Formats: sequence, C-alpha cells, structure tokens
Amino acid sequence: MTLITLGILLVTAVVTASLIATSLPMQFSATILSKTVVNAEVPSDGDCLDVAVIGGGIGGAYTGWRLRDRGLSISVFEFSDRVGGRLFTAELPVAPGTYLDFGAMRFKSGAHPTLNRTATALGLNIIPFELGYGNADETIWYNRGKRMRNTDLGTTNIPYNLQQGEANDPDMLLWELFKNNVNITDTYPSLEDLFFLSYPGDTGSSEGYKTIAGGMEKVPRTLMEKFLEANTTHKLHLNHQLTRMERRQTGGYNLRFRKTQTVDGVTTPVMTGNTGLTMCARKVVLAAQKDAIQQIDFPEFKNNPEIRRTIDSVEGFPAGRIYLAYNTKWWKTGNPDITHTKSDLPNRQTYDWSTGTNNVSIIMASYHDGDFTHYWRELSQFGTPIPGSLPGVNAVTDVVKNRVEKYLSVIYNVSQSDIPETVGGAMMLWDRYPFSAAWGYFKAGFDERKVRDMIYKPSPSDHVYIVSNSWSADDLQGWAEGSLIAVDAVIQKYFIE
Ligand SMILES: Cc1cc2nc3c(=O)[nH]c(=O)nc-3n(C[C@H](O)[C@H](O)[C@H](O)COP(=O)(O)OP(=O)(O)OC[C@H]3O[C@@H](n4cnc5c(N)ncnc54)[C@H](O)[C@@H]3O)c2cc1C
Repeated sequence: MTLITLGILLVTAVVTASLIATSLPMQFSATILSKTVVNAEVPSDGDCLDVAVIGGGIGGAYTGWRLRDRGLSISVFEFSDRVGGRLFTAELPVAPGTYLDFGAMRFKSGAHPTLNRTATALGLNIIPFELGYGNADETIWYNRGKRMRNTDLGTTNIPYNLQQGEANDPDMLLWELFKNNVNITDTYPSLEDLFFLSYPGDTGSSEGYKTIAGGMEKVPRTLMEKFLEANTTHKLHLNHQLTRMERRQTGGYNLRFRKTQTVDGVTTPVMTGNTGLTMCARKVVLAAQKDAIQQIDFPEFKNNPEIRRTIDSVEGFPAGRIYLAYNTKWWKTGNPDITHTKSDLPNRQTYDWSTGTNNVSIIMASYHDGDFTHYWRELSQFGTPIPGSLPGVNAVTDVVKNRVEKYLSVIYNVSQSDIPETVGGAMMLWDRYPFSAAWGYFKAGFDERKVRDMIYKPSPSDHVYIVSNSWSADDLQGWAEGSLIAVDAVIQKYFIE
C-alpha cells in the first residue's frame, strides 16, 4: 500500500467515524472510538481485545454488563446506529408520554426471572402490562366474517353452524383433539397432566405480565450504559458489521468489519472510501439471531457439516406492528370494554395501546406474523407517509393506513367513513437483515435442548460462543429471556473467573 493510499484511508476513516459520532444519542457518543478502529491492518497480539461481542441487542448488552467487573478489555460491535435490536421503543411526537414498542413489549414475571431480576438490578420501573395476552373478557374475535366475544366460546352465542360436539368449551375441544390424535396411553404422567403441562392456558389473563415504564428498550440501553461506565477499556462501536472471522496463528481471531451508515433507521454498508477494518479478539461472543450469524463468514462453522446443520435447525418467522394515532378513541364506540381483537384478517391482532398527555390516543392497529408481514411489506412500498408519521423505516403510508382501517372497520363494526383522520402513525416490520425474523421455531427432528447446549460453543476447539434465543428450548425462542439465559450459560461455563 502506498503512503498516499494509506493517508486517504486514514482521513476517510477519521471523517466517517466523526460523522457517526455526531449522529449518536448523547450517552453513547463519547465511547465509540478506539485507537484500533482507524487501523485497517491486522492488529498485533498486544492490541487484541479480551472479548469481542457482536450485536448490541439485549443479548450483547447483557453480555457486556455481566462481564463488566472482570477487568477485561471488551468491545461491543453493532451493525446499526442504535442499541437494543429487537427491543425498540419509539415516541410518537403527536402523542407525548406514549411509548411504542415495535419488538418485545411484555414479559412474564414468573416465567422470565432473569429479565425480571436484571430490570430490578438496573433500577428500572417494572409495571403491569395491563393488556396481558389479550384478556378473555376484553377480546373480540373476528373470523370468517363473523364477530364474537371470547366469552361466547362454548356458549350458544357462537355465530357459526356448529355440530353439538364442536360447540364445546375451547379447553375441552383442545383436550378432545389431544386425546383423539396423540398416540400415548394414560400411564404416567396422566393425559390430563400432560395436556395441561403442554398447554398452560397462556391466554386470557393479564396476571403476571409486566413491562418497563418508558418502554422495553430501556433494558438494553441501561445495560449498555452501565457496561461502558464500568471500565474505560469497554467500548461500543456502532455501525460496524462483522462480515468475516479467521483464526490467528497465535491464537484468537481476526475480525473483519464493514462500516455501515444509518439514515432514518435504514442501515446500509458504506460504499465509498475504506469501508473495512480489522480487529482481533481472544474470545468472540455472537449475540445475534440465526440468519445474521449465518451471514458471518467463519470457515470453522462453514466447513463443518454438523455445525452447519445445527445452526440451521431453526426457521425464522417474521412479524410486524402498525400503530395509528387519533384525536378520539373511535374504536371504543360500541365496544367500550374491548382492549384487544384477534382476527383472520391481515391485521391479526389489535391492542388499545395508550393515550398521550394531550389526549391523542394510539391503537396498535396490527400485530401480525408470518406471511402477513410480507403482505404489509409489499403495501408499505406504495403511497406517501401520513401526516405525523415517524420517518424512514417506521413510516406509515396512506396506502397502509387505508388498508388497515378497512379491516379495523369490520373488526370493530364501525363504518370506514366514520373513522376520523389519523394524526400520526408508526410501524416496523421484522423481516429484513439483520432481523429476518421476529423469532424462530425448531425444524422437525431436532432435540431442542441438545441443540441449545451445542450452539453455546458450536466448535469445541474455538473460543466462539453464540448467545441467542434463536435456539432456546422450553418455549423461550420468542422471548428476550431466552437470550439472557444463553448469556448466563455461556458465562458460567466458558468465562470462569
Ligand atoms: C414483533 C416482536 C414482538 C416480540 N415480543 C416479545 C415480547 O413481548 N417479550 C419478549 O420477551 N420478547 C419478545 N420478542 C422477542 C425479543 O424482542 C427478542 O427475543 C430479543 O430482543 C432478542 O435479543 P437479542 O439481543 O438476542 O437479538 P437482537 O435483538 O436481534 O439483537 C442482535 C443485534 O445484533 C446486531 N447484528 C446482527 N448481525 C451483526 C453483525 N454481523 N455485526 C454487528 N452487529 C450485528 C443486530 O443489528 C442487532 O442489534 C419480540 C420480538 C418481535 C420482533
């Protein structure tokens, strides 16, 4: 490399870094640069980090926080310009005092003790999540063109022509399905026990559901702040995408990063100037979801069919949320006690979300998953943002708004022409890198606990760990708790003091 090229590279790197620094939230802006960032060459052994954490979601932030007092040099590298990943809270300026959670919005105080304990240790305000999972007596179901209450199930109010046996209480119906289609005898545990163990009756009550005052994103952000405060060698590098890892001959790993830029929530690789840089670390913690990890070029994973198969044992499932703001709670007209709806329309679920200090109210007009996410993605590419919409990746266009309202009108039984003008909106679809999925499910034929344990350290001869709930067992793949449990397991087993 000539001196002139090197000079251009250095200037480009410094300018890019300072541009990134100025666009960051205050509390993180001072910490993103370290001396190795502007060096595109392979660092020497003495410059290697003790630990590189890839991903600034709750898993990565919790890893840093858990290791904060060990005297280790640790850097967290994050693809985008924000900390939080799928814990993402926004405020709608037209409705001050309200917080929109685009990703995780609730947790269970009993079933998610790590998150509960961590939020408490951070001094965050844990409050009830009143909307629960859709409380039974506050829910409208709209399916196959018919509207009914949750409480109509199992009664003569069901608006379908059902056979006598089909009109049973839903728990009984599930029980019949289970009993008649599962090839197990009623030895031990009894069929009843087995059924109620595997079907804990999750819906129907808000009891035990919690959230964080000010939004769930406060958890990873506070974890990150405390991690950075704990030691001056702790760093956060936003807009850094890990693309490749290689073993170093002297131990540890060279980590190849590509710089990215984020405009209105959309993060893309920087295409001009020197966009690559190399760091090294003795241990690497990958705190990202399956699809993002698969994109990292690490020969030890790629060339081992067993590791490849294990990583590929889960399938991602996209999801999304659309929020609309109005000056009145029109959806309460005729439905004063309803807080939640479930339907077979592309909205899937709605929640009566919250009201700002200026009385502007927000409805979560759609909480959908699977293929419905592709449907809303397609529509979101048409039209222009509605007045009061958040920008960029969170924008709601008039086309999306009109379509959502069309469905809301039949679900809530209000004529579409009677729905007042929106005053704002926001949405987020979790179907694109680095969040190709909202959560994952195991493919058939895998022993989930075995996979989970293997994923923590996929290659026995490498100090590369995966802490992600993509491979969590025991129904935790869709919950932040799964990522925290993975971090605890890896630290306990592989970061022994
Ligand atoms: C719509 C929705 C609803 C949900 N509801 C709930 C809920 O109510 N309760 C609950 O507990 N959970 C819920 N979840 C799940 C929860 O949000 C996630 O399980 C949790 O946030 C996962 O955290 P994580 O840190 O493991 O991964 P992520 O949040 O995905 O963070 C990974 C981070 O790594 C970064 N990254 C990826 N690749 C790279 C790379 N190569 N280089 C650098 N950085 C990289 C990404 O940008 C990201 O910031 C929900 C999720 C969604 C999407």
